[in-house]
Amino acid sequence: MGMVIGVDLGGTKMAAAAVAEDGQILASAREKTRPEEGVEAVIARLADLSWRVTRAAGAGAVPAVCVGVPGGVDDATGVVDKASNLGWEGVALGPALSALLGGARVFLDNDVRVAVLGEHTYGLGKGTRTMVGVFVGTGIGGGVVAGGQLHLGGRGAAGELGHMVLKPKGPRCSCGRRGCVEALASRTAMERRVWALIARGHKSILPRLLKKEGRTRLTSSVIAQALDAEDPVMTEVVARAQRYLALMVGSVVNLLDPEVVVVGGGLAERLGDRFVAPIREGARARFLVERAADRVLIAATALKETAAPLGAAEVARARLGKGDASGRPRLAG
Ligand SMILES: [Zn+2]
Repeated sequence: MGMVIGVDLGGTKMAAAAVAEDGQILASAREKTRPEEGVEAVIARLADLSWRVTRAAGAGAVPAVCVGVPGGVDDATGVVDKASNLGWEGVALGPALSALLGGARVFLDNDVRVAVLGEHTYGLGKGTRTMVGVFVGTGIGGGVVAGGQLHLGGRGAAGELGHMVLKPKGPRCSCGRRGCVEALASRTAMERRVWALIARGHKSILPRLLKKEGRTRLTSSVIAQALDAEDPVMTEVVARAQRYLALMVGSVVNLLDPEVVVVGGGLAERLGDRFVAPIREGARARFLVERAADRVLIAATALKETAAPLGAAEVARARLGKGDASGRPRLAG
C-alpha cells in the first residue's frame, strides 16, 4: 500500500510524518497551529504540511492522510464535532483538507487515541495485549488497549483517565466537575499551584525564569529548568502531581492488569524517567498483585512526539486496507 501521512493536530503545534509501510518515518515536519487565525488558515497550514512531507519523501501526490484531532470527531463525515483547544465546533475538516490535497483520502480520529495506537504499534506497547497510555499535558488524556485492540467501549468513549476523580471536593476540572486527576496533576494544574504558592509568599525563581524566557505559561521546558535549579516551589508542585498520577496509575493497574503503562506528553518527553520514576514507585505501593517475574512496565514514552503521527498513519493504513464495518483499525493481537 506504500506511504501514508499521519498528522497530529494540537492546540499549539501540528506535526506531520510520511510513514512507510514498515513504520519508518520517511519525512516529518512541524508548524505552529495558530488557531486564533481561524479555521481556514489552520486547514491551509495542515495542507501545506502534508504536501511538504509528501514531497520530502519523494512522492508527487499526497497519499491517504489521517489527522489526530484534540477533540471529538465523526470520521464518517469528516467533521470535527468539538475541539475546545482549537475553538472548533462542527468543522468539516475532512472534506476541506481533501480538497486542498488533490482529493486525497482524509481520515480523522482523536489525538490521544492515535498516540496510544502509535505506542502500541511501534513503541513500548509493541506486541502487548493489554496496555495503558497516559498523556500529561495541558490536560490529561489516556487510552486503553485490551485484547490487542484499542478499547473503545460501548459508545466509543472509553479511556478518559484524566477524569478519574481523586478528590471529590478538589479543584474544578475542565470538564466542569471537581477533583479529577486532570485538575490535580496536569501542567495547567501545576501552573495554578505554583502561582498559589508564590502568592502565599513562597520563594521561587519561576517569575524571573518566565520573564527571561519571554513566556507567560509554564511550559515543559520552563518546568525542567526550574527543577534543574532545584527551585523549591517547582519541586514540590511536580512531586505533588506525581503523587496523584501514582494514585491513578496504581488504580488503573489494579483494574486492567496491563503489561505496560506508557507515560507521554511534554513533561515525560522532556524529563523521561525523572518524571516517571516517582509515579512508578508510588503506583507500585498500591498494586494488589505484584510478582517480580511479571512486573508491570511503567515507563516514559520512547517515541515521544512521533507517537501520534505514527499512530495516525496506522489508522489511515487500517482504514484504507481492512476497513471493518466500524471503520476502526483492527490491531494485531
Ligand atoms: Zn474532569
